[in-house]
Amino acid sequence: MTTFKMTPMDYIEREEKYGAHNYHPLPVVLNRGEGIFVWDVEGKRYYDFLSAYSAVNQGHCHPRIINALNEQAQKLTLTSRAFFNSTLGEFEEYMTNYFGYDKVLPMNTGAEADETALKLCRKWGYEKKGIPENEAKIIVCEGNFHGRTITIISMSTDPDAYKGFGPYTPGFVTIPYNDLDALAKELEDPNVAGFLVEPIQGEAGVYVPEDGFLTKAYEMCHEKNVLFIADEVQTGIARTGKLLACDHENVKPDVLILGKAISGGVFPVSAVLADDDIMLVIRPGEHGSTYGGNPLAAKVAIAALDVIRDEKLAENSERLGEIFRSEIEKIDSNMVELVRGKGLLNAVVIKPKGDKTAWDVCVAMKDNGLIAKPTHNHIIRFAPPLVITEEELMEAIAIIKKTLAQFE
Ligand code: PLP
Repeated sequence: MTTFKMTPMDYIEREEKYGAHNYHPLPVVLNRGEGIFVWDVEGKRYYDFLSAYSAVNQGHCHPRIINALNEQAQKLTLTSRAFFNSTLGEFEEYMTNYFGYDKVLPMNTGAEADETALKLCRKWGYEKKGIPENEAKIIVCEGNFHGRTITIISMSTDPDAYKGFGPYTPGFVTIPYNDLDALAKELEDPNVAGFLVEPIQGEAGVYVPEDGFLTKAYEMCHEKNVLFIADEVQTGIARTGKLLACDHENVKPDVLILGKAISGGVFPVSAVLADDDIMLVIRPGEHGSTYGGNPLAAKVAIAALDVIRDEKLAENSERLGEIFRSEIEKIDSNMVELVRGKGLLNAVVIKPKGDKTAWDVCVAMKDNGLIAKPTHNHIIRFAPPLVITEEELMEAIAIIKKTLAQFE
């Protein structure tokens, strides 16, 4: 009897046939992950330099996080919020101590946490600031990425995200990123309730604002009684070399949005943090989610955040990020236009060569044993798990160098 063994192409074709075509993956079929490495279905090993869009900061299948998941999975997985349970309060106490806020509101995905922050901000605007009903405005930035819901794409300036999905949710005002003059102008409007900003724009291509931008924006918002809302879904949890990217400027957002790596890539967990005067404007029945704050999520998130602290991953990210940027700058390739980023959230801007683009570079890197993904055609984001060592980073950089040399 012959046994049928699926080839990588079989896996790809099955996804193409039965799955919606809402992604364009690199042609590699992953089957296993451990730490900074993933293996494909044929057993080939790759350095993971995407980390599931910065969700896997603690490395794949971190044993402490997996243990927490396994232990809780034997005991209680979901109660809904119709009842109290023995893990939610532990998670809430842990999260508020860890990040320094009075209250936390748990959700599941980043987009849901962003939606939560938007609702919270509007409600605060009406109840606390006295904005007339249905008149609240929230300032957002060009190039933003906050997720995929109708309201969130209504704030987007990327046609791929919003085109064909109207009508759009009103109530947003867009300013250029990193533009304090534009912010000052819009803050003159007394109906502005909040300013929603990514401290570094990740999806847009790792745009780092000027030093002092966050501090000044925060102060300007406070002068006008406007909430400073930071979306740290991608930049948070040690990714940029500090626990939060806002920590680089010692700014404490009024509303903090977290997701992705608060569960180390093991389970969807997101959260919004704020102090009582803001968070308590939402009352029973006004917001929630069946799975939000479930026992598995609670235990997984606590373990994932313990790992960040115990393994000093922010410090590692800061130190290795410096090395990454300085090594990439040394590469002698006319395809490398520039490298930018903070900690281990970095992007290399690629100058196309003939018909060869960032996509072709990513395919060639994959063949050489390192996976990363282009964002916006000409930019490659490099964001390995933060558990990477200096030696491993240098090996990965050697792969990047070798790949670029193949295009010379
Ligand atoms: N906010 C930011 C800054 C993000 O980068 C992302 C995802 O990349 C999201 C929100 C959305 O998160 P999710 O895909 O979990 O909904």
